[in-house]
Amino acid sequence: MHVAKRVREAASSATLAFTHRVVELQRSGRDVISFVAGEPDFETPKHVKEAAIRAIQEGKTTYTQNTGIHELREAVAARVNRNWGSAYHPDDVLIASGAKHAIANAVFALCDSGDEVIIFSPYWVSYPEMVRLAGATPVIVPTRFDRKFDLDLAALERALSSRTKAVLFNNPVNPTGRVYTVEALDALVERLRSHDLFVISDEVYERIVYGVRFHSLAAFPDLRDRLVVVSGVSKTYAMTGWRIGYALGPREVISQMAKLQGHMTSNACTVSQWAALAALTGPQDAVEKMVGEFRRRRDFCLERLREIPGLKYYLPEGAFYFFVDVSAYLGKRTGAGDIQTPFDLCMYLLEEQGLALVPGEGFGSHTHVRISYTASLKTLARGLARLASGLQNLGSPAAH
Ligand code: PLP
Repeated sequence: MHVAKRVREAASSATLAFTHRVVELQRSGRDVISFVAGEPDFETPKHVKEAAIRAIQEGKTTYTQNTGIHELREAVAARVNRNWGSAYHPDDVLIASGAKHAIANAVFALCDSGDEVIIFSPYWVSYPEMVRLAGATPVIVPTRFDRKFDLDLAALERALSSRTKAVLFNNPVNPTGRVYTVEALDALVERLRSHDLFVISDEVYERIVYGVRFHSLAAFPDLRDRLVVVSGVSKTYAMTGWRIGYALGPREVISQMAKLQGHMTSNACTVSQWAALAALTGPQDAVEKMVGEFRRRRDFCLERLREIPGLKYYLPEGAFYFFVDVSAYLGKRTGAGDIQTPFDLCMYLLEEQGLALVPGEGFGSHTHVRISYTASLKTLARGLARLASGLQNLGSPAAH
């Protein structure tokens, strides 16, 4: 007897696999510096924690409406409408157990088996697997490092077919840190206009941008009748463990997603919903402080990365990752074996230097590794010194 084939065949998240190995080494007493985590290293703001404590004390500990408490749905709709000129009603909002859950709800509600879903690469690790688990087929449209990860609309056009059900879009992008301009989004929307498909827009890093303006696809009225916008509180308010995300979309789609959620998980954690309400409606200074600190760290990483020969990277405008082209170090030999892939290189750095980075394979790249800069400047300095010395020990980088 076996578990289901579609589950057996799903790749487990590359990030999780690496975290597992890091924990294993740390447990064995190794000093490991990890730049793997996809979460802020800040505490949830105090007023948010207090709102949760109050909710518990007031007995707000029972089931809520499956779609989420009205107050939170109202706050989400109000914020999106205020920012992007949309007219979402609280009933057009679904509160889910994290942005990931909101995306999964959308993918499962929209896709029939045999459908295709377009995903730009490099992509967030879970997108293709979610699509496959829903019985649909991911169709990957690459964006290229040498074109600053611009959307390749000609390639998108070629990838569209009569089976395309949706485009699963991410902005700001994990792992590249790219934030698309309003002109780029305009061109994308224009290109999609004549096609009968849905767009799922994962905007979970919307507030984590550095000196550029983020634009939501919710700002494009032409798209709204087939757009599902997803965001949440995890990254913005350092609330990854609270598990609150949300989706806004056409009422029929949201109600089908809600039906699915109702059968699978019911409402998102009640206490967390009250906490998320406090996060969205309370003071926002903690967000600004955190983003300011991420920016300092990004600039610091840039300085240190510049000192390492052979690396290429895009200066991230959003999220908190550097996606670094390490191809100059692939094909090197070590005592422990050849380094052919980003995975091999990450394993080498982990075992030899006690440095954990995420190999690009899980994001659809065979040339890059991801460095998460959600660590103090001191830890970043120590970790990047290990990167420099690990790469130096491999010999001079190949010329490209
Ligand atoms: N979308 C992207 C692009 C992410 O990087 C992440 C988390 O790493 C998520 C969604 C998931 O967010 P949540 O923790 O709210 O489920």
